[in-house]
Amino acid sequence: MLFMIERNVSIPILFVLIVSMIAIFLIALLIHILNSRNKANKAYRELKKHHEWLEGTVLSIGEAIIATDEKGIVTFSNYEAQKLFSLSEKQFLNKNFDDLLDLLRDQDGKNRNITLDIVLNKGSKFEFEGLSIIVSKDGKEYYVSGSITPVWGEMGDIVGTVSAIKDITELKRNEKKIYNMEYFDSITGLPNKMLFIDRLNIALANARRNGTKLAVILLDLDNFKTINDTLGHAFGDRILMQIAEKIKELLREADTVARFGGDEFIILQPALKDITDITRVADRILENFRTPWILEGREYYITASMGIAVYPNDGQDEGTLVKNADIAMYRAKDKGKNNYELFMESMNRKIIDKLNLENALRHAIGKEEFVLYYQPQVDIASGEIISVEALIRWNRKGVGLVQPLEFIPIAEESGLIIPLGEWVLKNACRQNVNWINSGFKPLTMAVNLSAKQFQQRDLVEMIERILYDTGMEPTLLELEITESTAMQDIDFTVDVLRKLREKGIRISLDDFGTGYSSLNYLKILPLDTLKIDKSFIHDIASNTNEEAIAKSVIGIAHKMNLMVVAEGVETNEQLEFLKDHMCDKVQGYLLSKPLPSDQLEKILKKNNEQMF
Ligand code: C2E
Ligand code: MG
Ligand code: MG
Repeated sequence: MLFMIERNVSIPILFVLIVSMIAIFLIALLIHILNSRNKANKAYRELKKHHEWLEGTVLSIGEAIIATDEKGIVTFSNYEAQKLFSLSEKQFLNKNFDDLLDLLRDQDGKNRNITLDIVLNKGSKFEFEGLSIIVSKDGKEYYVSGSITPVWGEMGDIVGTVSAIKDITELKRNEKKIYNMEYFDSITGLPNKMLFIDRLNIALANARRNGTKLAVILLDLDNFKTINDTLGHAFGDRILMQIAEKIKELLREADTVARFGGDEFIILQPALKDITDITRVADRILENFRTPWILEGREYYITASMGIAVYPNDGQDEGTLVKNADIAMYRAKDKGKNNYELFMESMNRKIIDKLNLENALRHAIGKEEFVLYYQPQVDIASGEIISVEALIRWNRKGVGLVQPLEFIPIAEESGLIIPLGEWVLKNACRQNVNWINSGFKPLTMAVNLSAKQFQQRDLVEMIERILYDTGMEPTLLELEITESTAMQDIDFTVDVLRKLREKGIRISLDDFGTGYSSLNYLKILPLDTLKIDKSFIHDIASNTNEEAIAKSVIGIAHKMNLMVVAEGVETNEQLEFLKDHMCDKVQGYLLSKPLPSDQLEKILKKNNEQMF
């Protein structure tokens, strides 16, 4: 019975149980599905939000962003790009990026060769700096900087490019403003003290390197305080502007004029060839200050005092030059204002004369103003002229005959001695050949070589060329060098002299007795002749000391197989002494002064008759 009851009850319960389990399973499944859908929806929403944020960010980022496909066709542009190029989003799409690059001009041409190809084909990133300018349709110019970067696909291929371009126009403007504020005077617009000192230091470095001169002119207005006090500072400022403009007009492009202080201006003249250039500018400024300055229909007379300091004469550094220009300026004021002074007062005239001379010398070379004079050298034993010394003279236009001691040192200093020395050698050789061709007895031609000439590395070649060109016999050429020339670099000297003597050229040591007079060097140097200086000869026959020296020099020279020439022989007593002591040759006014070629020829004609 119990079993029956249990059996009858268990069937429906089982059924209910199964149904409930299915229901629970279905509900759980439903919940799970609903949950999953919710999750997917949420992720999708988040992703969408992220994309929108990303797009929004790129669209509104402060830099222009432009993307292209692998062919360089624009696929995306943001607002900033559209603004910068003045193109709408639509106009941007499908545009060739190279056309946009054409708008990226570059002031110094650095970015000119860039095309998108370089980025697309080589895969290299291209960066450009703020030099580029985009000219938009409305004509606005922008300074831009930025980069173009390749975009790599999953397969390692380039699938496009993305460019980021930044407008830096404002930045540039500010930089310029700051630079101007720092280096320029706000009233006159001229460079200020700081910029002037900068430029002066650069000019000094150049002058040192190139061996040129430069000048600093400090200009102070003489009566400017009165104008400021009576008419007010604003008025004074406007006059200053006019003066600044005027000074600028009077200078060369390379010169700098700066406002140095209240009513002080300072001028830099770099790379000067000639001091007359400075005084010319100072003169021009003075002249311009003579005419009145006109402001608001009224005339104002303002004068200026200037002080000039020249590198290298008056200072080696910026501080000394400015200080010395200042000292000179105060001297100009003391002397009555409205004038200029060079720092080296005593040098004022001298410098100007010297530099005028240098300038004239430079032009004289081209104008053939030089002539050679020839002074005979007589063989003591035979009394015959056996050689001549070529001595240069400058037939300076408007001045007359200028002696070598007046211009040779300047020619040396300025380097003009190189072309001049070559001219002397060529003409002396040519003359010697002409005399031989005209039937005169062959003479030795002595030519002076300056120290600077001797240092020329191609000296031997130059001499060989001249001998060849003129047809001059090398054994008839005697080159005169001085002890100081020889001693500059003794090994080099010995080497050069040896080379010259190998060609048959004779070497003579000039002015012996005025320099080191080292007998030791006489041994080392390959020489043929020793010329006793005229200062020694002057005192022989009257001063026993000098006599003894002359006698021993002749003796030693002979022991060294050197021929001895006495120069500056003016009296018969001197000649007699030299004869008695076996001097070989004499040269001096007693026999003949240096003469132009035509006059010397007359003496040469009589040469067969002995000179004494
Ligand atoms: P130096 O080579 O010693 O020439 C001799 C100088 O003495 C010449 O002066 C000559 O005129 C002068 N003299 C000759 N005899 C007498 C005399 O009896 N008494 C006096 N008091 N003087 C006499 P100059 O022509 O004025 O030349 C001076 C110097 O200039 C030369 O001295 C030489 O060093 C240099 N010089 C001349 N021509 C040239 C040249 O073509 N090239 C170079 N580098 N230097 C030259
Ligand atoms: Mg000489
Ligand atoms: Mg001499």
